Amino acid sequence: MHPVFLETFGCQMNELDSELVRGQLTTLGYRFVNDPAEARVVLFNTCSVREQAEQKAYSRIGIVGKRKAAGETIVLGVIGCMAERDGVDLLRRHPQVDLMCGPAELDRLPQLIDNALRTQTAEDSVVLSQEERTALAGNRSRRSSTLAAAEDNLETLDISRAFDEASIGGARRSAQVRITRGCNKFCTYCVVPATRGAEIHRPPDHIVEECRRLAEAGALEVTLLGQTVNHYRYEHGLAVTVDGRQAAQVGPGLTAFRSAPPASSRVTTFAQLLRRIHDEVPQILRLRFVTSYPRDFGDDVLAVMRDCPRVCKYLHIPAQSGSDRILKLMNRGYSRGEYVDFVQRALALVPDVCIAGDIIVGFPTETDDDFEQTCSLVRELPFKNNFIFKYSPRPGTVAIDRFADDVPDAVKRLRNNTLLAIQSETSRRVHAAWIGRTVDVFFSDVRAPRVSRERTEDESAHENAGTHASVMELPQLSAAGSVGVKALHASRAHTVDSGSTRWQAVGRTSGDLICSAFAAT
Ligand code: SAM
Ligand code: SF4
Repeated sequence: MHPVFLETFGCQMNELDSELVRGQLTTLGYRFVNDPAEARVVLFNTCSVREQAEQKAYSRIGIVGKRKAAGETIVLGVIGCMAERDGVDLLRRHPQVDLMCGPAELDRLPQLIDNALRTQTAEDSVVLSQEERTALAGNRSRRSSTLAAAEDNLETLDISRAFDEASIGGARRSAQVRITRGCNKFCTYCVVPATRGAEIHRPPDHIVEECRRLAEAGALEVTLLGQTVNHYRYEHGLAVTVDGRQAAQVGPGLTAFRSAPPASSRVTTFAQLLRRIHDEVPQILRLRFVTSYPRDFGDDVLAVMRDCPRVCKYLHIPAQSGSDRILKLMNRGYSRGEYVDFVQRALALVPDVCIAGDIIVGFPTETDDDFEQTCSLVRELPFKNNFIFKYSPRPGTVAIDRFADDVPDAVKRLRNNTLLAIQSETSRRVHAAWIGRTVDVFFSDVRAPRVSRERTEDESAHENAGTHASVMELPQLSAAGSVGVKALHASRAHTVDSGSTRWQAVGRTSGDLICSAFAAT
């Protein structure tokens, strides 16, 4: 059957989408290859969050275009957020692209590939219509909650995923499970609500069952995925059944979190979902979740994190800025004070919890004073790490229409570097507090150490975490290649360079501190 090459750009949600696409196409007989030169079908699963991510995809599209111009017969598909954001205009600008499929329409991908393959091999020249080449949601998914739920064929894709080596990351034995798709928050800079559509919550029974089957397949770690996981809420009274199965459900919006649900309505909240998975699938030794939203993060979730030993003590909860003025322009819905209060509440209620986040520098109108407030937030709170991004104006967002991108790139770069240095110092402090403690590490990778090169600040910070992890009895780990003392799991060793004399094991603590440990072979 036809060989397929699939390259993924962007976030964990895209990685999971790619895994589901891979499972779906494998079931249909397609074979996946690691080299695009061997592929008959080339797919790029794209990201639109920042311009840089799109540029990478365009450059790959250009390379395949040259091969097609030189006479190779290839089906080229652009799937994911860029397809949805660009729409059919992408086909006009890049005629080498045969098909496009948005993230909310991936269940229709096999049909699109089939259309393209059959056209390319037809004896008479056939021209496919736009409908036969594209599957895009447009605004359909926002029409109404009932309609969107009934139209949500994607649930089928999640439910019918393969439970095999690939689904648990091979030897890494770490899997991802989606709990919520899309987003209703409309942060002004963000393209996600436009590309992934309305926030849709999957039925809790489907999620728990998926976790159970992944555990049976060998997963020891599961990460629950959603753009704002703490806003997960499934109202059983409103559940719609489609083809005899409970359908996913559109999120209730922010107002639902202002008061507790009425006692009469049966609701599964995020805290309840987390506890259910923890209690009902105890084979999962590590249960993580990303991303959390700083608003409406209740003590009920913190209590589950505190009380359930297999729920990781880790919160990825992006602040985005430390300036109230900028937070307001971003439409984040919380103030700096509320963010700080939340982090302090989490630190007080969940011993050893580690906090990480995302920050955007150079948002329109950001002054030196606004930026200084972000710097002081990163000094003040014990962030284990922050992903720091330069603001990138994105078509389809409110910010690009409402605000001029008026912070010069040189200033964005300077702020980015300044904040990285401050974060590095904060990381060092956070890591230093762990030195001398014995920690459980989930070793997911054992490999030959990388050839020495200058380390980035971030890696140096991670090294601090490695300092205490090296108390592990690693000689055993490298000798047996599969068991680590005090480690929850050590994966099978990957290929090791023949000249190598030392092994490197890389793993994470419950709080997601990265631990590197070395041992001689
Ligand atoms: N849902 C998550 C949340 O609310 O924090 C984040 C999802 S977003 C795909 C990942 C990160 O990309 C964001 O937290 C933000 O920091 C960054 N990001 C999103 N849009 C951006 C833009 N236009 N420019 C720069 N960074 C952006
Ligand atoms: Fe984007 Fe905001 Fe939704 Fe996160 S919460 S995905 S940043 S719109």
